[in-house]
Amino acid sequence: MPASASSSTGRYSVFAIAREAMRLHTGWKRAWASPEPKKKYQVVIVGAGGHGLATAYYLGRNFGITDVAVIEKGWLGGGNTGRNTTIIRSNYLQDPSAAIYDKALKLYENLSQDLNYNIMFSPRGLLMLAQTEHEVRGYKRTVYANQLQGVATEWVSPKRIKDMLPIINIEGPRYPVLGGLYQERGGTARHDAVAWGYARACSAMGMHIIQNCEVTGIETQGGQVVAVNTGKGRIECDKLALIAAGHSSVLAEMAGFRLPIESLALQALVSEPIKPCCDIVIMANTVHGYLSQSDKGEMVIGGGTDGFNNYTQRGSWHHVEETVRALIETFPMLSRLKMLRQWGGIVDMTGDRSPILSTTPVGNIFVNCGWGTGGFKAIPGSGWAMAELVAKGQPGPLAADFGLSRFAEGRFIDESVAAGVAH
Ligand SMILES: Cc1cc2nc3c(=O)[nH]c(=O)nc-3n(C[C@H](O)[C@H](O)[C@H](O)COP(=O)(O)OP(=O)(O)OC[C@H]3O[C@@H](n4cnc5c(N)ncnc54)[C@H](O)[C@@H]3O)c2cc1C
Repeated sequence: MPASASSSTGRYSVFAIAREAMRLHTGWKRAWASPEPKKKYQVVIVGAGGHGLATAYYLGRNFGITDVAVIEKGWLGGGNTGRNTTIIRSNYLQDPSAAIYDKALKLYENLSQDLNYNIMFSPRGLLMLAQTEHEVRGYKRTVYANQLQGVATEWVSPKRIKDMLPIINIEGPRYPVLGGLYQERGGTARHDAVAWGYARACSAMGMHIIQNCEVTGIETQGGQVVAVNTGKGRIECDKLALIAAGHSSVLAEMAGFRLPIESLALQALVSEPIKPCCDIVIMANTVHGYLSQSDKGEMVIGGGTDGFNNYTQRGSWHHVEETVRALIETFPMLSRLKMLRQWGGIVDMTGDRSPILSTTPVGNIFVNCGWGTGGFKAIPGSGWAMAELVAKGQPGPLAADFGLSRFAEGRFIDESVAAGVAH
């Protein structure tokens, strides 16, 4: 068995809090180490977002592989993992999607205990509004599919929606609420804490998390990777996992192959904090908006992607206006709120809106990307499946359908309806 997730950082517990309170909090250890890179690792993972860190964690936990470096060009969790609106659900349409997202949700349900780190998982319920007849048909179909998949979801009436969420206007003139797809187990978690919890557990197992270290080149020989070139020098590896979201195609190009993804900015914003008024998560895909209320009281609001490919990790005024304007018919109270902050992240979109967990044309390089606008919810399941792929060199049942070959074979896993704005 690998070392316990907390062996080198001290176990977090009520006793630890009491002990530290007695000695004025002078004894807390750093949650993770910041080592200089070694010359060589068994596995190098590029990208210390949630998916990269979870992959490292399950490599250690499930396969005993701890000679691992996770290399990050910025700070860990500073990519999309720390920029998303934290919606978690598993109500997808296709069987392979439901399997991996529900695995993730089940792992999320015990992740705080597993990592000994409070990720603030909040299964407050997730409601996807149907505001056109097309959506009614699409979501009812998803409810039936979920029943067959063993994923508990239900179709709810407009009246029940109004009871659940008094702030909603179900009688909008353009887009009245016709019903909704509800998943009681859905909800949110603290995004940074997910990255921090995995990072702490990886560090406790002796893995190296190397921040501020950009991978600038990938060396291959005879169809195999031998090393990566980084801002901190050349690092050799037996296996390489590229888990870099919107920058995956940039890294693939360094290794000499192409990925079928497009990179786009996805933006979000938060309002000033207000009293509790919204205790579920709502997605309104027809008007491209979704919202939840944070523990601080801010309304957390997300919209659609930019209409053109780009790598700009920032928000823009027109998006704030478009998103809020679209939501106001259904949530009139938003018109009175001041918006506090906005930001953006670079998401990696595939044509079928499903992820890629795959071997690649380079024998010992593996890729995990394509989570697009909805990969936060998948982090534990993706890490679990990716660790198996990297450890065994071939996908297990969770990843098997998500290989790159599906694009050549035309075997798409179409999630464009069940994942309208895809969260
Ligand atoms: C505004 C917004 C809202 C979202 N809302 C939701 C939501 O509500 N629910 C949901 O499920 N998902 C949501 N998502 C999507 C979700 O955030 C992502 O799918 C997920 O976080 C991807 O995680 P990751 O680990 O693959 O990528 P990231 O967290 O982006 O990590 C990749 C890392 O790779 C690093 N990297 C890139 N290139 C290099 C290099 N050359 N060398 C070293 N490091 C490199 C980056 O710096 C980055 O830290 C949202 C995304 C955004 C932007």
